[in-house]
Amino acid sequence: MNQIEQVSFDPLASLLKQVAPSKANELDNLLACLCPVCELDGESEALVFRARPSTNTVIIGMKCTIRLEVHAHAAAIVFLAMGAPGYWSMDTEQKSKLYKPVDDLLNWAVSRDLQQWLVANGHHVQPEDVFQQVRSELPLPSSLDKYQREFGSRLFRVAAAFILLHELAHLHFGHTYARGYSAIQQEKDADRFAADWLLESASKAQDPQLSRTTALLGISVALLWLTLVNVYFGPQRSATHPESYDRLFQVLDHAISQEDDEESPFVWHFVSRLLFLHMHTAAFEVDAARMQGDPRDTVNYLIDLLSTSRRS
Ligand SMILES: [Zn+2]
Repeated sequence: MNQIEQVSFDPLASLLKQVAPSKANELDNLLACLCPVCELDGESEALVFRARPSTNTVIIGMKCTIRLEVHAHAAAIVFLAMGAPGYWSMDTEQKSKLYKPVDDLLNWAVSRDLQQWLVANGHHVQPEDVFQQVRSELPLPSSLDKYQREFGSRLFRVAAAFILLHELAHLHFGHTYARGYSAIQQEKDADRFAADWLLESASKAQDPQLSRTTALLGISVALLWLTLVNVYFGPQRSATHPESYDRLFQVLDHAISQEDDEESPFVWHFVSRLLFLHMHTAAFEVDAARMQGDPRDTVNYLIDLLSTSRRS
């Protein structure tokens, strides 16, 4: 594939309609108004998802999209493990055993995520230098069962839709390049637009596979992926983007229903497990006792560690 290729927006529109069918008409209106163009970047290893408002273009990196897909499958394994018999009374070590198949997937995806960040900062490393046991091709091991594959694909589609809607929001709101407070606010507005879009559709969905829970988990996968930069490199203090851990917490805290006594603990627990897995790999010293309480508090605690980058 050439480095940059302009392609039709139609496949992306189909993805958005598949994930949020009850917003199909609204999407048609939005696209008729914006006439967005899609540029695929087949070469760059970097995390390429951005909007260029001057030409109504959404730019998508193919390589980072594959990494997102692998992250979504790892997340699916973690989520399905939460349904294992006796899961809720297991200690952290027992839970970790259930997540074992996640290791290979995250080794593959995270090593590439890290590599491109290091290269962007002037370091030249191979994925193998970052983690061991890295395979060169997309590793969806044959050991993944049908449910893990199906659910992984579903989470990937929602996570990709969230990012895509975030970029469309920049075009829709007419955002322009900015720095400081207004730039940070633009990012928050785009996140809010994307999350509300998916949840509004999910609340009307007939199909249980498109439930609020699926939407919330998919959004979490996307934002957890972005938060990896904080896990490995600390707070970024960017002039154009909020810290990813802030985006993760703020979007979910806005989106998760506090009244629903299943949804809130369930989604926060999922987020805390995945965040913990990454932070554990990145050698954060985590107080096991703080991992046992209210899962929203646990996520808050982990984010607090990220914001102060207390690593062993
Ligand atoms: Zn943005």
